[in-house]
Amino acid sequence: MTTLHPEFVEYIPRELEEGILYISMKYKTAGHKCPCGCGNLVFTPLSPADWQLSYDGYGVTLTPSIGNWNYDCKSHYWIVNNKVRYASRWNDFEIDMVKKKELRDKKQYFKKRRKRNFRNWIYKILSLSCFV
Ligand SMILES: [Zn+2]
Repeated sequence: MTTLHPEFVEYIPRELEEGILYISMKYKTAGHKCPCGCGNLVFTPLSPADWQLSYDGYGVTLTPSIGNWNYDCKSHYWIVNNKVRYASRWNDFEIDMVKKKELRDKKQYFKKRRKRNFRNWIYKILSLSCFV
């Protein structure tokens, strides 16, 4: 089983070493070399709409799974406690479904956020007008 050791860095380096999961809290992103050996670099932005990272002092877990369907290898795996756990390979239909779902989730997330910002703005205006 492939292991990815977490390394907390300020910047993700240009050259990534195999077997290391680079994590930049500052830029809210993680990067690693595809564990299948194809050499492609995989970057996972960390946010509620992208990937969530948990670190217990030893092991790092990334959710949801990572699907490299834009690469030839099309590998699909989970990173659980520093271990790469391969999931089933995607077929074209599944890739299509997941891509659509992700787009939908993302749109929803940003829509919610916009709504929240708008609400905060209204509250601000209302609370300001109280002092007038
Ligand atoms: Zn690969």
